[in-house]
Order: sequence, then structure tokens, then C-alpha cells
Amino acid sequence: MEGIFHKLYNFIEKDIKAQGESKTMAVLVRYISCILMLYNVLMIAIFAVRGAFPFLLLFVFGLASAIATLYITYTNNVGRSLISLASTVDVIAVVGAFATSWMFGFQYLVVTMMLVVFFNMTWNMLKRVLLAVLHALILTILAAVCSKATEQGMVWPAFGVNLNAFILIIISVGVAYSRKFSASEYKLYEYNKKLERMAGSDPLTGLLNRRYMSDVLHKLESRYKQERVPLAMAMGDIDFFKKVNDTYGHDSGDVVLKEIAAMLTTFMENKGYVSRWGGEEFLLVFRGINADEVFQMLEGFRDDVAKKNIESDGKTIKVTMTFGLEEYSSHAGIDETIKKADEKLYLGKNGGRNRVVY
Ligand code: GH3
Ligand code: MG
Ligand code: MG
Repeated sequence: MEGIFHKLYNFIEKDIKAQGESKTMAVLVRYISCILMLYNVLMIAIFAVRGAFPFLLLFVFGLASAIATLYITYTNNVGRSLISLASTVDVIAVVGAFATSWMFGFQYLVVTMMLVVFFNMTWNMLKRVLLAVLHALILTILAAVCSKATEQGMVWPAFGVNLNAFILIIISVGVAYSRKFSASEYKLYEYNKKLERMAGSDPLTGLLNRRYMSDVLHKLESRYKQERVPLAMAMGDIDFFKKVNDTYGHDSGDVVLKEIAAMLTTFMENKGYVSRWGGEEFLLVFRGINADEVFQMLEGFRDDVAKKNIESDGKTIKVTMTFGLEEYSSHAGIDETIKKADEKLYLGKNGGRNRVVY
């Protein structure tokens, strides 16, 4: 028995997938999802006994949605799981209250979500306040509409004042505690994000580094399986770069690398991803463009590089680049596609450089 509890505990407390996010919130969402599963099972039993069968649909939805929310905490970021949780609870509360009356108590669920959204440090204060206000609004509308079903209804305006005082006090508690949280936890969150960015980028050029690009490629590959959006990969290498270093010095070589990286970044905007794959080698991944079109675009870029005057130390440096382009297919996979792009790059080098081989 103890073993089962221990396993369950470890499952709930398991670390989150997204880096640099608050684990506290993810674990909270998991606990609430479990409570909601139990809640929906109980409600299914209660309403089945009452013979109110249309309600069963609502709670079956609630149960499925709670399970989905739990799943999301393991596969997605905290914000998404929280949205899933809040929408589950809000739908149950609003539909439940409208279909029954204020006397059934569904409105209490909305209050819980008002609090939970407040403590999510991955959202800024404005978003959290807006979401809390939205929940307060839902609560007020429920009170106004659903109380009519009872014999006396609410006694306005006294009820309105009470409700608003209640909401404001809860929000104040939320603000007070989340501010304290914010100061430490949000800073940590930002710091982790920064570390993650640094670990994923190349310090000289600011481009994605090879490690990060490998992650991107694997994500793109799994998306490809679902969406079949075309992918193309190009390996680019600066021609006779050793000569640039030998003639102008290593520092000027660095200037050239930075300049090429900046051109690549602009070129790849809205086209896909670019990374520094090696010393003066860049891997480009185009998403959603067929390889014939990519070839034309790359030809244009190659021409731009050849025409570019790079200034360093009062001297003008000119370089060219050679590219190997290969279309991705799930049959070949990522590694094989890159290998083929690489082989084409070397064909281009042997064929005289300053060209795109496709
Ligand atoms: P090819 O046209 O065949 O590509 O000729 P290449 O001279 O470019 O050949 P190779 O790939 O062998 O040379 C790459 C050179 O790039 C060697 C290395 O010193 C230089 N390099 C690699 N990383 C850096 C860097 O960060 N800064 C500078 N300045 N040079 C670098
Ligand atoms: Mg080279
Ligand atoms: Mg090279």
C-alpha cells in the first residue's frame, strides 16, 4: 500500500519538461487535476442517482478534461496546463450553475481558479490581474442570473457589495503573496531563461549553436510526422576562410563571421532556423518552402554575400560561400539529410566554390 502511495507521490512531483519554469505551479496543477477527477466521478454518481442524465455529459467532459490537463503538465509548459485547468473548471462551473441554480454551489469553483491564475509566475502581472478580473466577472454574472432560479433570488445591492468585498479580499491576498513570490521566483525564472538562451547560442555570432539546433531538428522531425510541411536543409561554408585569417588576421576573420551571421539571420527570417554548425559552417533549415524555391532563394543569398563589402580595420574584405541543399524526407531522416547536404557542399567546393548544389 505504502509503495503505491510512494509511486503516486513521485509521479505527481516529477520534474517538469520545460526548462526554467516553476515546478511549484506544475505540481499544484497536478494535485488539482487529481481532485477534479475525484470530483467528477462523485458528481457522475450523484447526478446518476438523481436520474439527471444530461448532467453526466458535463462531468464526463470534466473527467476527460482533468485527465488531459494532468497529461499536459508532463508534456507542455505550465501556462498551457493552467489554461487547460481553468477552462475545465470554468466550463463545469458555468454550465453547472446555469443548468441548476446558485444553491448547488458550482460558483465556488470559479473562486479557486481566480486564485490559481494569480500565482502563475510565468505570466506577467497584467495578464494575471486580467484573468482574475475575468473570473470575478463570471462570478458576478452567475450570481445575477442563477439566483433567479431560487425562490427569493439574491438580495441586491447588499449581495453585490458582499460579493465584491469577497472578491477584492481574495485578490489582495493573491497580490500580496504573489508579489513576494515574484521577487524571488520570477527572478529565478528569468535567470533560468537567460541561462537557457546562453546555452543554446553561439557566443561569437549569436546564432543557435549545434546542440540547440539538434534539439530544433528533432522537434521539427516529430512535427513533420503530423503536418507533412516540407523541410529542406542547407549546409553552407565560407570559401577559403583560412586565407581570410592568414591575410587579415584572426580578429578580422571574426568580423567576417559575425557579418555573415547577421546576413543569414535576416535572410532566414520567416523561413526557418539557422545555426553555426562548425567553425565557418552554417546549417540552415527551411520550413514550409519547397526545395526548388529554396534553391532560388539561396542563389540570391549567395549572390548577396559575393557582392558584400565587409569592412574591418579600414580594409574591405570580400568572401564567397558554397552551399549544399537537400530536401528532407522521413525515409532518410535528419542525419542522412544533413550528410547528403554535406556531400553536395563538397561537390560545390570541388566544382569551383561560390555556388549552390542541389
Ligand atoms: P574551403 O573553401 O575549402 O572551405 O576553404 P577553407 O579555408 O574555408 O577551409 P577550412 O574549412 O579547412 O578552414 C576553416 C578555417 O576557419 C580554419 C579555422 O582557422 C577558421 N576558423 C574556424 N573558426 C573560426 C573562428 O571562430 N574565428 C576565426 N577567425 N576563424 C575560424
Ligand atoms: Mg571553408
Ligand atoms: Mg569548413
